[in-house]
Order: sequence, then structure tokens, then C-alpha cells
Amino acid sequence: MSSDQTTRITARARVFGVLAAAGPTSRAELARRTALAPSTVSAVIAELHADRLVVELPGDGSPRAPGAMGRPPVLVALDRAAGVALGLDFGKRHLRVAVADLAHAVLAERHEQLDADLPAAEAIALATRLVGEVLDETGARSAEIAGVGMGLPGPVHRPSGELGDSTILPGWVGVRAADAMSAALGHPVEVENDASLGALSEWMWGAGKGADDMAYLKLATGIGAGLIVRGRPYGGSGGTAGEIGHTIIDPAGPVCRCGNRGCLETLAGSAAILGSLDGDFEELPAVIASARDGHAASRRAIGDAGATIGRAVATLCNLLNPQRVVVGGDLAAAGELLLAPLAESLRRGAVRSAADDVRVLPGALGDRAEVLGAVALVLRRGAGLLPRAGRG
Ligand SMILES: [Zn+2]
Repeated sequence: MSSDQTTRITARARVFGVLAAAGPTSRAELARRTALAPSTVSAVIAELHADRLVVELPGDGSPRAPGAMGRPPVLVALDRAAGVALGLDFGKRHLRVAVADLAHAVLAERHEQLDADLPAAEAIALATRLVGEVLDETGARSAEIAGVGMGLPGPVHRPSGELGDSTILPGWVGVRAADAMSAALGHPVEVENDASLGALSEWMWGAGKGADDMAYLKLATGIGAGLIVRGRPYGGSGGTAGEIGHTIIDPAGPVCRCGNRGCLETLAGSAAILGSLDGDFEELPAVIASARDGHAASRRAIGDAGATIGRAVATLCNLLNPQRVVVGGDLAAAGELLLAPLAESLRRGAVRSAADDVRVLPGALGDRAEVLGAVALVLRRGAGLLPRAGRG
């Protein structure tokens, strides 16, 4: 292969990679992000266009300079023919599946509420059925799947991909989730902790957009955090970073499933909130609804949970000094009833400068954050999604 050909293939991969990771992008931005000459970018786009891998979308709304020559700005996006990205999110009480094109448009979604913990094999069978449904709905063939991302609650250990024993899904402990899901779908699967996926999607498309340093809190049955540090997702050396739910708040508190006492999750997770209300409610959404209706005990239970979570988040802010803390998970539906005491306790507990730098915001993507993060995990692989030249 000549060096010219190599250069051209590299340029093609770079342009494709930026389009997959960033979504619809102007030519000028493509040149900036790929560090390629504008003429090279134009040549590569023409080539990708000829292969039916890109389309041009109407202008991005940015005003043209007075007297500007040439065509108005248009955005370049990967075409549906370039493939689809699949996202899966497994929770304790839900399973979500989403399929998106490589231009970041979600094409179809499925959501199943689960009555009880499913063993891994049953959950995988259900996910496989839902994947079949979303592919049917969008008219996509399995061969068009460019990648699959999958979220699980709990730390996913590298490099084995096994779920650690502090997960809230006992049926998955020791299961090599990526391998098992991959065997069912016939495609490679990338597994990530669900809070890390929530961080990724809120950072790419939601309340964390534009922040280089942020933390996402997933407040639900379990409590976890996903971290973006200096513009990159941060999982730590082995994938365990962000286990804020096991911050010890009260050394004499209740025993946690991790084996310690008084972890944040034992004091402010959904079981603790339900427990503090003497069995008046079976599920968190009912507590939130009654709090919104003014039920004093429900408001108190949610407010206390927010204040307790804020203490742990203060420590997180002291350590990482994020610009934003984005709050997601089932409990986030309580809105200001949760966020106000959380932010107040954060401000009291963090050093002044860390507290001044951070804004506490509700997530913008709601309970879809994790499944969309699984899609984002695929899209961020960028150039790795490039179909072989001449396909289709
Ligand atoms: Zn614990």
C-alpha cells in the first residue's frame, strides 16, 4: 500500500470517527477536530458520500457573516447506512433497550418493568427479544449493528468484565456479562457501570454538556457516581471509581451489602427511605408522589436523604472539584425536594472554593440516561465503527 493510500485511509477514519463521536458536525469543525486541511476534509466527505455513508443536513442556524460567499453552513452526519448503535441498560427492576443511528438520532426504544431480580440468563434472553423488536421497528438488520453497549449496576472489573459482588443484581455476580450478552446477540458487547453511562450521556447530550469536570449521581436502589475528569470519562485503575454509595457516613450504622457499616446507601438508598416511612409505601415513586402532594413524612424522608447524600458529595467535590454535579436515578424525580437539601449540605460540607465552583443540576435525560449512555459508549469508539470500504 502506498503512503498516499495510507494517509487517505487514516484521514477517512479520522473524519468518520469524529462524526460518530460528535454527531452532526460542520466542515470547519471537522477540520479543527481532525487537524486535517479543509481540502482534505472535503475530499474525504465526497468519498464517504459516494459510499453513501454520510448525508448533509440543513444549516446549524449559525449566522453567516455579512457578504459571506459560498453556500450556507451545513452539517455533515453519518447516514443510516453507516450502521446502528445498540444500547442496553439492566437494572434491578427494569430493562431498557435503545437503537440509534450513528448521527446520534434514537430510532426506537423499549422499556420493561421487572417484578423481581432476574437471573442473568433470563435477563439476557429478554434483552435479546427486545433487541429483535427495536431492530424490526427500524428495519435494521443484525448485520448493520456497528456496536453494542451495555450498562449494569455495580462495578465492572477490568479486564475480566465480571460484575463485582457489591452489585445489587445477585443473579449476575461472577457472570462475564459482555461475553454472555455477546454470545446471545452475535456481536461484540462492551459493558460499563450504569452510573458511568449516565455520566457519559448527560455529558454528551444533557445537563453536563460543555463541562470538562463533572459528576453524575445515580440515586436509586443503589447509589453510584459516574465521573468525567478533564473532558474524559474516568473509571479508575480497575473500573471501580465512583462507588460513592459505599462512603461510610455512620460507622455505627446498619450493615451494608458490601460488608461495611453505615454506608451512604444504607442511609439514603431507596430501601432506607422506604424503611424510614414504616412500610407506608412499597416503591419510591409513591413516596415522591406523596411528598409532592405535601405529605410531611415523605418530604422529610426525601429531604433527609438529600442532606445525607450531600455530605458524601461534599467530599467528592473536595477531591475532584467538579463544575457540575448532575443528579439522576429514580430519586431525582423528587426535584427540589431532594436537590435543595443536597446542595445545602454540600455547601456546608465542602471547602469554600470547591462549593463555589460547583452547580447541582437535575439530569436532563431522566430514566433514559443510562441506556443512552450505552449508545454513547458505542459512538465514542468513533473510527472503530467505520465499515470496510465498498460494503453495501
Ligand atoms: Zn457499602
